[in-house]
Formats: sequence, structure tokens, C-alpha cells
Amino acid sequence: MVATVFYSPHQDDEALGMAGAIREAVETGREVYLVLISNGSPSAALLDRYNSTFFCALCNQQHSFRYSAQQLVEARLMEFRASSAALGIRHVEEMLLDERQAGEEGFIWSIKNKILEYESALPGASHRLVSGRKDFVLNPAHLASTTAAEQAQKEASGKLDLQMYRIYEYRKRFRQGNGCAKITTLTNQQWDYKRIALNQYLRFKPEEGRLAFGLHSVPDLFGLILGWKGKENRREFLDFLR
Ligand SMILES: [Zn+2]
Ligand SMILES: [Zn+2]
Repeated sequence: MVATVFYSPHQDDEALGMAGAIREAVETGREVYLVLISNGSPSAALLDRYNSTFFCALCNQQHSFRYSAQQLVEARLMEFRASSAALGIRHVEEMLLDERQAGEEGFIWSIKNKILEYESALPGASHRLVSGRKDFVLNPAHLASTTAAEQAQKEASGKLDLQMYRIYEYRKRFRQGNGCAKITTLTNQQWDYKRIALNQYLRFKPEEGRLAFGLHSVPDLFGLILGWKGKENRREFLDFLR
């Protein structure tokens, strides 16, 4: 049976946008691989925002974080590892490319080579990435993964099976999935796993190194998917890259 390789630009993309697809691949008995692309190192602006004093409605308390970039990177990694373990993925690779170089050529080149490397080790594999260009919001690391996938497809003369998941699609309250190639709806079992994976990004226990970084980065996405103000969204949105 062909293998499936998922590539997550950040710690949380695998849970937000592809957890159902990951579970589907695991359930059908495929060998499932997950590659974490960036180290998630925060920009100076993001670090400043985190370390300002603010009241957080999510944790219902005042935060006065004083975390270094390195501490945040470690906290994000813990979330990612807990999430991928919850999803039952046996093969996890952490590339840990420097997030701050996401727009640069070397960053894209490394992802492209990684796709081709997996393709040559697992011929005919299904490669699932996170959509950049076609998504609702443009994010540098997501864009880099799309560019890399396009370059890999070109080098492979169009023979790769490349599927791109839209992460920010949940923000479109109406016409969700408009224009994407396929919308899947998770089964109850897949949804249970996705919820557990997402929950790994909500844990705030500083004494254990858990800082709920995912939650604080994109609270609206977690809320829209988990249904904090209404119904949960069990769908996933994908495009094919030919
Ligand atoms: Zn991301
Ligand atoms: Zn908080």
C-alpha cells in the first residue's frame, strides 16, 4: 500500500487542517509520515506581543509572559509531539528550519528536496502539504511549502501525488470551501482524534513547559473548529497540485 507523507509548516497545522486526513490514512493501514518543516521561532514583533501584559479571555487571567524565543520554540515542539502522538503517527521527522527565513530560497529548497527525498524512498507516495497561495490568508511558511511543492512537481515532471490543505478556510464563515477541489467531513472517530490533537495546543501549564502557544497564536481557528460559539466544524478543505 502506498505511503502518505504529511508536511506541517508549523506546530499546529497538522492538527488544525489535516488531522482527519491523517487519521483516515492511519485507519486504512497506510504507512503515515509527518514532517514538521519550521522550528516556529517567533518574529521579534510576535515575541513582543506575547511578552506584553494583557488580560487573556481564553485563560481568564492576566498574562505577563517573559519567555525567550527559545522557550517558546520548545513549548511549541512539546505541543506538536503530543499532537502527533495523539494522532498515532509513528514516523515523525522534525526539519526545524528557521521560521524567520521562511521567505528565503534556501528554506524553499530544503522543503522541495525533502518532498523528492520521500518520493524516492517511497515511490508513488501521497504527499499532503498545507496550502499557501490558494488559502484565505497568506502565511510565509505556508507559501514556501506551496512553492516548494510546485518546484518538486516540476522536477518530477508532474508525476507526484500532491494535495494541499487549506488551514485558514475556517475563517470564512460563509461559502466555506468555495473553489477548493474537495471538502471532506470527518467520521465520529476521526473527529475524536482531531479534537484530542487540537487539545494539545490548549494546555496551559507553565510548570510543565506547556504554554498553550497554539491557542494564543490563532484562538479564532481553534474556536471555529472546536465550536466554542456554536457548532464544531468537522470539515477539511483541499486542493490538488498538478
Ligand atoms: Zn501554519
Ligand atoms: Zn491565555
